[in-house]
Amino acid sequence: MAFKLHIGVLAFPFGTHAAPLLALVRRLAASAPDALFSFINSAASNATLFNATAFDNIRARDVWDGAPRGEPFTGSHFEAVGLFLEASPGNFEMAIREAERESGLEIGCLLTDAFLWFSGDMAEKRGVPWVPFWTAASCSLSSHVYTDQIVRAIESTEKAKQEKALSFIPGLEMVTTADLPPEIFLGNNASPLAITINKMVEHLPKSTAVVLNSFEEIDPIITKDLKSKFPNFLNVGPSILASPAAAISDETGCLSWLGGLNRPNSVVYISFGTVITPPENELAALCEALETCRFPFLWSIKDHAVKSLPNGFVDRTNSFGKMVAWAPQPQILAHESVGAFVTHGGWNSILESIASCVPLICRPFFGDQKLNSRMVQDSWGIGVLVEGGVFTKSGTIECLKELMTTEKGAKMRENVSLLRKKAVAAVDSQGSSSKNFDKLLEVIGAR
Ligand code: UDP
Repeated sequence: MAFKLHIGVLAFPFGTHAAPLLALVRRLAASAPDALFSFINSAASNATLFNATAFDNIRARDVWDGAPRGEPFTGSHFEAVGLFLEASPGNFEMAIREAERESGLEIGCLLTDAFLWFSGDMAEKRGVPWVPFWTAASCSLSSHVYTDQIVRAIESTEKAKQEKALSFIPGLEMVTTADLPPEIFLGNNASPLAITINKMVEHLPKSTAVVLNSFEEIDPIITKDLKSKFPNFLNVGPSILASPAAAISDETGCLSWLGGLNRPNSVVYISFGTVITPPENELAALCEALETCRFPFLWSIKDHAVKSLPNGFVDRTNSFGKMVAWAPQPQILAHESVGAFVTHGGWNSILESIASCVPLICRPFFGDQKLNSRMVQDSWGIGVLVEGGVFTKSGTIECLKELMTTEKGAKMRENVSLLRKKAVAAVDSQGSSSKNFDKLLEVIGAR
């Protein structure tokens, strides 16, 4: 097929960034069959994302991830991020040129992870629109947009960073500086990611549109404020409701295990996303709480972490608990047996929980997770933050009992159902997210 338009899609291959970008690209590709989407991402990340159901007009292309060639990379997540950022943008420039040469079509638009701030310069040089995709919530984007004011506000008081309320940011009145993504504060030893995010803030004004996998109605005040700051501030999600994933086979037996329980809202699902493993003492506290409460639980836990659980825990709980190394999370949350989600507060996990009306217990670790968790508890009222921000036996028991057995927990379940209704309305044909999606098609030149 002769394509009329070529969109360069640049992904950030860490955490759960590339998957929601690809979900968006799939929706765009379905609506714009005469546009070619070159999805440029690390080989390792592409290998996990692309399968037999690839679209004809989406081409996966690999970029060098910056790790030393020819030997397996054994460093940490943050070291991998640092190496990748060092290799950028040269690695992306090269991949774009190859994509243009092979297709015979110059790139007409760059749709990129917002972290990849240099795409703004690349787009400017080429005279094409730059459309950054913010893979997290509007609250965290807002906190970055207000970086300068936050830093000034902290400097203007002698108060510890921890205590400063963000009453001057529309929609973030219940948030304090202790909840903020640490990358906001550059300091002397700023990490490559912090530098990247601060550069992103500088470059965002160059964007033609900023796109989010969220919906306006979740944070109407923040939405109104950010709409006044960007020419096109487009919430087009949640993708999980706009274009639900295909049914999966139940290879791990999780769904049949849930079905076998046959008790609505009775199971605690536990997962900390793709990057985090809680420290050993907190894993022990969580285990003790699970053994004490004896709610059935389903835990997505990496093999190496199972080894550091308390002696005998697996045997003692196998009559009411199931552990797997990887779970079909959206389908699990959608199962009627699941009554609570113990999470690190990653944005994709929160959206999936909202889509399935499951209240959350949050133990955030890094990045936007604290801020998301604060919003879960104090803005949306759809869950709780663990006491003191870490798992202790007593604090975790309290959270589990509150969500699973009390009126307060029932209220959170009701709140999350109301939020789901708003999300469903947003992706309806006349809803805000659908209208924003149409606008996005226009911005990228596909309409
Ligand atoms: N996930 C999954 N199975 C698992 C663990 C995680 O499918 O066993 C998926 C989950 O559905 C979500 C993503 O991994 O889409 C985690 O994204 P999130 O933004 O919550 O956290 P991150 O991985 O970026 O820390």
